[in-house]
Amino acid sequence: MENIIKDIDIIAPEEAQACDFKTTQEENTGKSKKLYIESYGCQMNFSDSEIVASIMKENGFDTTSDFEQADVIFLNTCSIREKAEQTVRKRLSQFNTIKKNKPEMTIGVLGCMAERLKDKLLEEEKIVDVVVGPDAYRDLPNLVAAAEDGSKGVNTFLSREETYADISPVRLNSNGVSAFISIMRGCDNMCSFCVVPFTRGRERSRDPHSIVNEAKELFQKGYKEVTLLGQNVDSYKWSPEENNKARLNKKEEEVSAVVNFANLLEMVAKVSPQLRIRFSTSHPKDITDEVLYTMKKYDNICKYIHLPVQSGNSRVLEMMNRTYDRDWYLDRVRAIREILGDECGISSDMIAGFCTETEEEHQDTLSIMDIVKYDFSYMFFYSERPGTLAAKKYADDIPLEVKKRRLAEIIEKQSALSLERNKLDVGKIQEILIEGTSKRSEEQLKGRNSANKVVIIPNNGLKAGDYAMVRITDCSPATLFGEIVS
Ligand code: SAM
Ligand code: SF4
Repeated sequence: MENIIKDIDIIAPEEAQACDFKTTQEENTGKSKKLYIESYGCQMNFSDSEIVASIMKENGFDTTSDFEQADVIFLNTCSIREKAEQTVRKRLSQFNTIKKNKPEMTIGVLGCMAERLKDKLLEEEKIVDVVVGPDAYRDLPNLVAAAEDGSKGVNTFLSREETYADISPVRLNSNGVSAFISIMRGCDNMCSFCVVPFTRGRERSRDPHSIVNEAKELFQKGYKEVTLLGQNVDSYKWSPEENNKARLNKKEEEVSAVVNFANLLEMVAKVSPQLRIRFSTSHPKDITDEVLYTMKKYDNICKYIHLPVQSGNSRVLEMMNRTYDRDWYLDRVRAIREILGDECGISSDMIAGFCTETEEEHQDTLSIMDIVKYDFSYMFFYSERPGTLAAKKYADDIPLEVKKRRLAEIIEKQSALSLERNKLDVGKIQEILIEGTSKRSEEQLKGRNSANKVVIIPNNGLKAGDYAMVRITDCSPATLFGEIVS
């Protein structure tokens, strides 16, 4: 038990469930108004905030890191678990005083919570002026202008086409080394626990040429790493005539060319061997050997795959509507190991205590973790979301204390596996990309190896964006420590 508590100290269940948020930084380019954005939830949301900042910049706004100085405050929200929504509501109540003192300030709720709750949000949260869903950000300047004139507004129209391909995102919270590139939007899967298909709409793929151009521009500005983002990157599919996957699947013979995810990866990898490519999230049902061979072919495609399993039990996976079973998942892991070897990092998402999950089925999750030996996992207990298939079909019948205990067991297992995996790196020489000085000390630099692990080395004057060959000398469950060899 003492061990469990110790490990929970590393990633407490509450913390694993909580949502971090990121804020805009100060930028003064002489615009007349100030915009402050807080972004919650997944990387996709952080990437969307960069699109929002770009749209608002075109319309007279510089960003600020101080909400008290802002003319407009946006909360770009997440709905994935109940806790995420509670956090945003609490935050809104904290803005009450400032809105009282500065009634002309506009407060907007964007993202998944906006999409899910629509005008109900205006009724329930009186300080909110605009509510805008993920596909309606081009309408923000109009809605903000209307709010300044006293009219509250909602736009939660979900598009089948919008990819914001032509918008060049303003990089927020950037270390100047790595950036996100959104390659698709929405999700056509219907995992029964998940609210995303309802809040982000149908799956669309972005024009690959605009993706490659964005990668080139980033590289020219000194960035050395891009992460291609989508809810299910392996189902990326684009043709010059059609970007909507469901429609494209029907008329593949009628289109002039089709670009799949392996093709896209190759196109981005060719931008420069000095530009690292990462991607997230891969879906076990869709990841192909073609993608794995493309990863193998290019040294600059990082050997790391986020492949969420959610549960290690086939009955639970079926109830989750993940459309793969335990054997299928293990076969995909076998292919990764065969094609990319043992050093390829694999991480996962896990949900503890899904509806009707028995103790034996929970044990299957622990045992699949032992077999795969994940380097890292995001771990959650099940949180019922209104409107999802699971909420409609199944009782949320696992008591909270059981969910929490199972989650603690998963976290304890992951901590041991992370340490075991990291120990395998000790003694090896690996290339790392320096991201800056470490949080703890200016005397140390922080970088990342291909498998996405943080590596701490003594500060010998290398700069963010430099590559270095490093011998790994020690490790903890979360970090590798090394010394420069060249
Ligand atoms: N598209 C990604 C995929 O399929 O792996 C995941 C996207 S979702 C934003 C991130 C993770 O949140 C999921 O993989 C799942 O583990 C977790 N999650 C989603 N809905 C949840 C729920 N209702 N309760 C607990 N965790 C949930
Ligand atoms: Fe949600 Fe499943 Fe889509 Fe991921 S693949 S966003 S878990 S519905």
